[in-house]
Amino acid sequence: MQDILDYIEENRERYIEMIQTACQQPSISTQNIGIQEMAELCRSMLEGVGARAEIIPIEGGHPVVLGEIDGPSPRMLNIYNHYDVQPPEPLDLWWSEPFAAEVRDGRIWARGVADNKGHLVARICAVDAWRNVRGELPLNIRFIYEGEEEIGSTNLERFVEENRARITPADGCIWEGGGKDFNGRVRLSCGLKGICYIELAVTCANTDMHSSRATIVPNPAWRLVWALNTFKDANEQVLIEGFYDKVLEPTVEEQNILEETPFDEAEFLETFGMDSFLLGLSGQQLKIKDMFQPTCTICGIESGFNEPGGLKTVLPNTASAKIDMRLVPDQDPREICELVRAHLDRHGFDDISVKLLAAEHPAKTDLDAPLVGAVAEAVRQVQGHEPVIVPITPGSGPMYALCQAIDIPSVSGPGGGNPDSKIHAPNENMYVEDYINGIKGMAVLFEEFAKV
Ligand SMILES: [Zn+2]
Repeated sequence: MQDILDYIEENRERYIEMIQTACQQPSISTQNIGIQEMAELCRSMLEGVGARAEIIPIEGGHPVVLGEIDGPSPRMLNIYNHYDVQPPEPLDLWWSEPFAAEVRDGRIWARGVADNKGHLVARICAVDAWRNVRGELPLNIRFIYEGEEEIGSTNLERFVEENRARITPADGCIWEGGGKDFNGRVRLSCGLKGICYIELAVTCANTDMHSSRATIVPNPAWRLVWALNTFKDANEQVLIEGFYDKVLEPTVEEQNILEETPFDEAEFLETFGMDSFLLGLSGQQLKIKDMFQPTCTICGIESGFNEPGGLKTVLPNTASAKIDMRLVPDQDPREICELVRAHLDRHGFDDISVKLLAAEHPAKTDLDAPLVGAVAEAVRQVQGHEPVIVPITPGSGPMYALCQAIDIPSVSGPGGGNPDSKIHAPNENMYVEDYINGIKGMAVLFEEFAKV
């Protein structure tokens, strides 16, 4: 491998330019800015390293870019990334232009560099290095780039159904990101939580009224508050009937892994200005709840007059709330949405509507899958340390649709993120060194996965 690793070192500047070019192209999915241009750029980057690449339009959505390169081994490695990014606002908090992709103080600063273009480009660079040094790759690779991850991957499940023959068979899938934890160790994640995001809404009269009418006219804000009060108790137990039925207890192996996974409680509390964790949790119990328990969160409530200052005595006629539930294996987001409906009906709230805004199934890969071993070996060789392998991370993504539902093991890659990467926030960044190591890690992974 040393020849390929040396080549990557010799080509640092060119690879840094590649990530800068990708980050300089805005691709904000929620505002539909630069999406088509970014898809074209992905295709040309893939073609630039010898892949057969195609932009597949998605009706009512953003295109998926597929690329494929053949190698001598029968193994096929899928690589999933997304080319869309979050909006850069608030702009005044950035230290440099979000789409300038400045390299400063050893870091690349740009919207999307850590989430997720740095990883996307690093993987293309790893292919570039292999081809230039050895002439061909050791295995088959298929790139799957979507443009809607930051808006909930709305169309990805349908894409998988309609294009299953084009993305299977595969022996494994490297997930979008990867990076280091607070202790500087690379963390590999073998799963993701799911999400069920709903909107509750209730309307009483057909117009707002003078609040003196509250004597005889119902108030939708109260209806909503009373309904929400039945969702969860003060001990954080979700009271929606059947909510926990499919929650899998962590296995002994998972609990052992968690025991060894560092989590700096004091630093977390200090960073976020808190005195203690929810329910006073600490130690192993805290980690288990964080990783293996689902949530039910009121993300926002809207009704009546909320302007700062001022006074308006009004009886509102509508109220709504957005609720997200982060799900764990084997909860099903659509089933959970039906449970919410049944719960509201049972408790006398059939006047409250439920709309499913986003649904993603939780996903989990066996910790001893060969792909996990291959990524761990790549981290050892490049970083010189043992990675931290975690069964699941608390975020969400379309891993179930793209991997578990079609029997493809999946794990995050030897990526370049860090705990201070500020994804979704101003001053998103990636260390140049981590980016280069991410390229090297992928290059080693190709060799290791071709062998197993
Ligand atoms: Zn994101």
